[in-house]
Amino acid sequence: MTVSHQSDEDYLPISLVTHAAFCERRTWLEVNGEKTDTSQMQSGFSAHKPVDDPTTSRSHRRTAVPLRSEKLGLSGRADEIEVLPDGSLHLLDYKASPVRKRAIVTPAQRLQLTLQKICLEDAGETVSSQSIYFTDHRRRVEVDIDSEDYAQARRLVERTREIVSSKKSPPTLVDDERCGSCSHFSVCLPDEHQLHEVTRRVHVSDPDGQVLHLTVQGSRASIKKGRVVVTKDGEELGDTPAERVHGVVVHGNIDLSSALHRNLLWNDVPIVWCSSTGRVYGFSRPTDGPNGQIRVQQHVLSHTGSLPIARQMIHSKIRNQGVFLRRNADSLEATNSLNASAKAALDAPDLPALFGIEGEAAAAYFSCFPEMLNQQQLDILGWTWPGRHGRGADDPINVLLNYAYGMLRTECLRAILSCGLDPHAGFLHSSNRNKPALALDLMEEFRAPIADSVVISMINRHQIKSSDFTTVGGAHRVRDTGRKKVITAFERRIQTSIRHPLFGYEVSWRRAIEVQARLILGVLDGSIPQYVGVKIR
Ligand code: SF4
Repeated sequence: MTVSHQSDEDYLPISLVTHAAFCERRTWLEVNGEKTDTSQMQSGFSAHKPVDDPTTSRSHRRTAVPLRSEKLGLSGRADEIEVLPDGSLHLLDYKASPVRKRAIVTPAQRLQLTLQKICLEDAGETVSSQSIYFTDHRRRVEVDIDSEDYAQARRLVERTREIVSSKKSPPTLVDDERCGSCSHFSVCLPDEHQLHEVTRRVHVSDPDGQVLHLTVQGSRASIKKGRVVVTKDGEELGDTPAERVHGVVVHGNIDLSSALHRNLLWNDVPIVWCSSTGRVYGFSRPTDGPNGQIRVQQHVLSHTGSLPIARQMIHSKIRNQGVFLRRNADSLEATNSLNASAKAALDAPDLPALFGIEGEAAAAYFSCFPEMLNQQQLDILGWTWPGRHGRGADDPINVLLNYAYGMLRTECLRAILSCGLDPHAGFLHSSNRNKPALALDLMEEFRAPIADSVVISMINRHQIKSSDFTTVGGAHRVRDTGRKKVITAFERRIQTSIRHPLFGYEVSWRRAIEVQARLILGVLDGSIPQYVGVKIR
């Protein structure tokens, strides 16, 4: 049956069908805009270079030929088509294949040739033969296509349409060797979806990727020859390759050139803007971010909140506070009380009750907070603990805590933006008063092991001085020198490698936050049954 098509978007790309032949979830990730940048893809780009330019076409050899099938509603592109002396066509597809592997045609490559052949035949052409050219082996392998290939291709086109229009993701593969060679492994997280120890190492597309913190007040960041360059008063303060930058945090009065801004957005790099006291006041995100459809589901669930997710977040937060206190202070009573509260959080009947449990636990935790601080250091600094104060605090310890929480919120915001979720639609915190509710949710379980840890070790290890603060009307404000110290200590902590408490592999705290953001995504797209928080031991 011929499908009636309105626009280019109604045509199903052949690549989506071939992804589905490999793994249905990969099609779903692709169609939801999850981009990956792996070495396989880079070698794929290089392999196609000789046939990427349609202007190199000649009468007997056409390159980069657009294809369409009106009957199946398919679109794609042929790398090369040779016109044979009898007027029929030879279809040729270029593939990279590491020399250590054999030049063997895979089922997905066979499917791709079949779909391309169907497009050409639907346009009235005769395709007499087809082959794959393996660029690394410099070898052409002929492929025979029979009636079963046609039938299977048509079945897969129909199945791909179902996947593309579904609001729920197909499940991840379980213990399947395809995942090890999949370009979407680092965003799909098939092993983590099983919610138990993972034996395969986590893959990150760029393990050296960094978050760039711009801190020098009055400076300017711009892009020059592919590098991010920071200058002040005509003097160059530093530079880094733009492709290594995975996120930018602007602290205070720093100018970002529009060319750099544009370049970052073009490359899907989120930018978070903070005040000089660490308060997040905005972010920039690319319009083409992934998972727009799931964002809609996020908003629906966020409207009422999600008790199962919220319970896990608060349970993990309180458990982590208890473990942190046990490690750093001698407060057995408080630790036991926190453990009891953590348990109670799992059975909270509703969100108000959960907030009540959290509030009591926070009071118990912060009443013991000074026990984790070195009294001798506090005496040298002349500081005392006045109890916990949030925004507007005027004592140095709370100012430091608030700054570290601000940085943690920034980190969570970045992780949420990078997987396409909306930071404002949370499941525990309300979006009232325009707060980034999901970032506030996500940071709960990381407060003690990351932010509190940074502040406590800065004080106990003499890394901060009273001269790093100034007083304005009796209130302490962190100076530039102090700000740099907090950012450095925070970056050191967030990049620290830990053994993941649930999955068991070595991972940085930064990546652990990103994995949690993706577990939330998994709950929303239906590929994971429940959210589980990170609990330190
Ligand atoms: S990692 Fe595995 S489950 Fe995920 S898309 Fe790839 S092959 Fe499919």
